[in-house]
Amino acid sequence: MLLDGKVAIVTGAASLRGIGRATAKAFVAQGARIVVLDLDEAQAQAAAADLGQGHLGLRADVTDRQACVDAVAKVQEQFGQIDILINNAGITQPIKTLDISPANYEAVLDVNLRGTLYMSQAVLPVMRAQRRGSIVCMSSVSAQRGGGIFGGPHYSAAKAGVLGLARAMAREFGPDNVRVNAVTPGLIQTDITAGKLTDAMKVDILKGIPLNRLGDAQDVANVCLFLASDLSSYLTGVTLDVNGGMLIH
Ligand code: NAD
Repeated sequence: MLLDGKVAIVTGAASLRGIGRATAKAFVAQGARIVVLDLDEAQAQAAAADLGQGHLGLRADVTDRQACVDAVAKVQEQFGQIDILINNAGITQPIKTLDISPANYEAVLDVNLRGTLYMSQAVLPVMRAQRRGSIVCMSSVSAQRGGGIFGGPHYSAAKAGVLGLARAMAREFGPDNVRVNAVTPGLIQTDITAGKLTDAMKVDILKGIPLNRLGDAQDVANVCLFLASDLSSYLTGVTLDVNGGMLIH
């Protein structure tokens, strides 16, 4: 088992068809104990219970620094270790540059970028003290190709910020044996598009994907598993594309 005895926090893992939930399931299959961290306490607990016995569901808004610190304290109290953090919580909005309001900017930048920083800040002292840890930050192909799929320019900017943040943290915490890597998914069939992705849009997007299908949450979960486990023990500061060839560069 790749994650035997490991404890993993997965943010945004309550969403039923989401990447976080699929990642949590893949980790459980490899022996990990999971902390599902999400906005709604009942949903987080239900998601944790759905994974089986011995997992924890916690409410925390990743944009609230104190909530992140408190959640990590609870994880420490319960498990006494944190080996893996998946910075997965994210939101998007399909709007164009001239329509981005201050509220749009704050919402999208805060969850995707500030949230990644705050959760990492909460977990890194624990990992540094343990002298081991793996953090995976969820970016997007939108960061690399300047959107054009679903999310707006502020989403591209936030996810590009995540790449820079992940690389900088990788550089800073490498000497502590803490690895930080990023994943850039293409279009994955989850509920993040909130019903706004039409069939016509899907057909159009498929034309640009050599593997000729949209991605599944499991496609991304498997890459998170690789980055979280010792299979990737000499990788830090890398970005892995999971996009069916949508962006070959
Ligand atoms: P999803 O909407 O299914 O899940 C997102 C989860 O994040 C939800 O459970 C939501 O409650 C949670 N969340 C939102 N704001 C939060 C906050 N402030 N604090 C804590 N939790 C919060 O979405 P998904 O498609 O599974 O997306 C997961 C990640 O993958 C996101 O970061 C997203 O940007 C990224 N991503 C998705 C795609 C895609 O096509 N689905 C592509 C590239 C990147």
